[in-house]
Amino acid sequence: MKSVTILGAGLSGLCTSFHVGHEGCEIYEAKPYFGGHIYSDVREGFTWDDGPHVSYTDNEYVKSLFAKSVKDQYVEYETYVSNYYRGHWIQHPAQSCLYQVPEPLRSQCLKSFLESRAQLATQPKPLNYQDWLYQAFGQVFAETFPAAYTRKYWTTDPINLGVDWIGKRVFYPSIEDVSEGAKGPLNRQTYWVNKWRYPSNGGFLSYGNMFADGARLHSNKTLVGVSLSKRQLLFSDKSSVSYERLVSTIPLPTLIKCVEDAPRDVKDAAAILRCTNFYLVEVAANHPAKRKEQWMYVYDEDKLSTRISIMEHFSPNNAPASKTGISVEVYGSDYRPLPTDRDEVSRRVQLELIEMGLLESLDVVISVQVRFVPWGNVIYDHNRRTALDRINQFLDSHGVFSVGRFAEWGYLMTHDCVLQSKRVGDLLKGKA
Ligand SMILES: Cc1cc2nc3c(=O)[nH]c(=O)nc-3n(C[C@H](O)[C@H](O)[C@H](O)COP(=O)(O)OP(=O)(O)OC[C@H]3O[C@@H](n4cnc5c(N)ncnc54)[C@H](O)[C@@H]3O)c2cc1C
Repeated sequence: MKSVTILGAGLSGLCTSFHVGHEGCEIYEAKPYFGGHIYSDVREGFTWDDGPHVSYTDNEYVKSLFAKSVKDQYVEYETYVSNYYRGHWIQHPAQSCLYQVPEPLRSQCLKSFLESRAQLATQPKPLNYQDWLYQAFGQVFAETFPAAYTRKYWTTDPINLGVDWIGKRVFYPSIEDVSEGAKGPLNRQTYWVNKWRYPSNGGFLSYGNMFADGARLHSNKTLVGVSLSKRQLLFSDKSSVSYERLVSTIPLPTLIKCVEDAPRDVKDAAAILRCTNFYLVEVAANHPAKRKEQWMYVYDEDKLSTRISIMEHFSPNNAPASKTGISVEVYGSDYRPLPTDRDEVSRRVQLELIEMGLLESLDVVISVQVRFVPWGNVIYDHNRRTALDRINQFLDSHGVFSVGRFAEWGYLMTHDCVLQSKRVGDLLKGKA
């Protein structure tokens, strides 16, 4: 078998090597450690993920691999998630829990929802996310909740997004779901993530350990140059290697920037791809969690906090007894850059946590760390599809395999990465 060179040691890179059987595979990773987005950092008894992760897949193959990686030491929980809106806590998804929305907004949401459903048959198929939201929920709910959240999480207005990423990710309710949910609890789960697993120890990274065992990993190797015609890679430490077969799991814009023989239109296509980046504000506090949710969404547009996770509710071993680890995500992008003053971000987020009742006071804070994560979520704006098709056509013509969230430039979750890695690993082994 020809040798396989893999760029990036996140889950996709490690899993591709694993599925090939590691033999003949060399992985080159920019960071000193493996894991990419599934990396978990353990500090002073607290475990922090690189953006808190859970595994909610139904796929038995992925479930069995993850279970094996942690020797069956995982926790399994039913999802308990809420939304914060101007002093009110509303269970997720809010569209089927309107009874917790304050009046008169609740009645306005219901009226506008019913009107939009009455007109649905005469409406054209939505071509952007704003139209989709208006048809799914009515304008009042759409603007108050998901459109506001879109501006915070996707960092742009919903009109700038397509609809090809939605799938079952945003719950499309029936008339009954909304009408009944406006009167009281539905007593049935309408969130698509209803159950999930998480490693008991070591954070989400523990799910990646098995794939790294036996992998030939070269760390501190940042790719800076590629010649596809000469089949050569150049790294920032000035070392270079030649390859027989190349698998890239690094972000597409980074790869294309490095490719010296990419034509102008491919470079231009890569330059218009958009992705969010984010700060993780990790607040360790000297009291138990104030609420029992695992994670929460914050809709107030005057708050930086967008998604908040309570780390010890992912696994009790993620924080020392009677203490809480609160991980807050704050998003930016080229559409709306992140604030640059990290001290100010830290200060504002802590005050927001106090206002929301998740942190007692500044006096109980044990430590705060603000970490910048350069790649968050691929933004499905209207440029994405055409640009991606052109880049893929070019990479395919040179036999480069793209695997994973930022190499395939999509909304891939960990189970998708495992399955894509298996597909490519099998292809490389000549099985498929
Ligand atoms: C905030 C957040 C929350 C998430 N939550 C969940 C969840 O709950 N459940 C779930 O299933 N999925 C979740 N995901 C998705 C999940 O993280 C990804 O699907 C998966 O980890 C992607 O793995 P990857 O290997 O494709 O990419 P990455 O993990 O990004 O790996 C790419 C690797 O390439 C390296 N690299 C980059 N540039 C270079 C270079 N120039 N040279 C060499 N190496 C380079 C990087 O350092 C990195 O290690 C979440 C993602 C985010 C951002």
